[in-house]
Amino acid sequence: MFENLSDRLESTFKKLRGRGKLTPSDVEKGLREVRLALLEADVNFRVVKDFINRVKERALGAEVLESLTPAQQLIKIVHEELVHTLGDSAVPLNLSGPKPIPILLVGLQGSGKTTTAAKLAKFLKKKNLKPFLVPADVYRPAAIDQLKTLAKQVGVACFDSQPDQKPVDIVKQAMAEAKAKGYDVVIIDTAGRLHIDDEMMAEVEEIKQAVEPRDVLLVADAMTGQDAVNIAKNFHEKVGLTGVVLTKVEGDARGGAALSIRAVTGCPIKFLGVGEKLDALEVFHPDRMASRILGMGDVLSLIEKAQEAFDLKKAQELQKKLKKDAFTLEDLRDQIRQMKRLGSLESIIKLIPGIGSKLKDMPFDEKELVRMEAILNSMTPQERRNPKILNASRKRRIAKGSGTTVQDVNRLLKSYEEMRKLFKHMRKKGGLQALARNLFGM
Ligand code: GDP
Repeated sequence: MFENLSDRLESTFKKLRGRGKLTPSDVEKGLREVRLALLEADVNFRVVKDFINRVKERALGAEVLESLTPAQQLIKIVHEELVHTLGDSAVPLNLSGPKPIPILLVGLQGSGKTTTAAKLAKFLKKKNLKPFLVPADVYRPAAIDQLKTLAKQVGVACFDSQPDQKPVDIVKQAMAEAKAKGYDVVIIDTAGRLHIDDEMMAEVEEIKQAVEPRDVLLVADAMTGQDAVNIAKNFHEKVGLTGVVLTKVEGDARGGAALSIRAVTGCPIKFLGVGEKLDALEVFHPDRMASRILGMGDVLSLIEKAQEAFDLKKAQELQKKLKKDAFTLEDLRDQIRQMKRLGSLESIIKLIPGIGSKLKDMPFDEKELVRMEAILNSMTPQERRNPKILNASRKRRIAKGSGTTVQDVNRLLKSYEEMRKLFKHMRKKGGLQALARNLFGM
């Protein structure tokens, strides 16, 4: 997400960095470009105006103009004000108080509500809580079955709602069952419509009164930009939200909704949906998001992700090997396996500071990982440890065994050589520690 905005801001700051000192007119010019970039990213114009005014007020003071590194100071201010626009700090779910804790999901049809219900259940299960999913969308014929199926996939319990029941009865019964069975959190998937209408709002209100949810989360599709912001405003005014889950964020190159919702509605974004898979849900952190927008990478999210997926012991072994220049094809295969567990390679790469924007046009193809692993699997351990012995006939055998071509095998070997060179280079420059820390959570 935010690719376009990041690029624009990066080039604006690059121009400013070229100068030793900044004059007020340099700052004004730079901020004009920032303003345009934000408007093009579909950020609400009032939010942009406020933002620019805040930055300008600070940037035209001594803090920037008399600094030895004015461009950096300006970026720092932009970063801080972005964090402020995004909501300052993360706002977690309201999980304190007596259990079971009801969470109500509301939103329009197709926004990703049902998927988000299952993702939240998975998220809470990982935190050792016992979630209970409750399908209360009796109008969309498949919605109940969809959530029941997702619940099975996640391995959590789901209330046995029937399509002929009234939603308010479903949630009352579900709460009673949750209490009796000792569930911690009750996640209620309410009905969506194509547009906001009074009937939907009345139903949400009725359910709200019946269960007194600790959180009322609007699920909104980031790709709809300012529409999502207006929907959030509407819902917040009519039923009162405690937060927003912004979905399909990974496909949203502009990011206007993410940047405007908090400032326009006063409602915090609590989670981001970043894919169709059930673990594609991220806690929203304003500071990390601001860093991502400014191309500084999101090291903390990366490390958290890596810690979940990587085997720490293996990572430490790898670090030792990298130090000794002993990175073999065996290690490469281990890495590929771990990468596959991490999810989309592209999404990982983008989190690395200073690398994200540079590599963004490289074709990171998940299928390529599968192909690489197949090739490596077709080698003997001896070949993986000592690729120098790979002559033409061995390569032919490997290609045949992995259902690829000799060119594919050569390409893999070339990538491997380049990786080794990169590691060597980084080791010389002392950047290896940092790279390893970022990549492998060490
Ligand atoms: P509902 O009508 O609001 O319950 O929407 P669904 O949960 O059925 O989701 C509608 C579509 O959006 C489905 O195809 C989901 O897989 C997809 N979807 C949901 N969340 C995300 C997300 O974060 N990213 C992407 N790419 N797709 C999503």
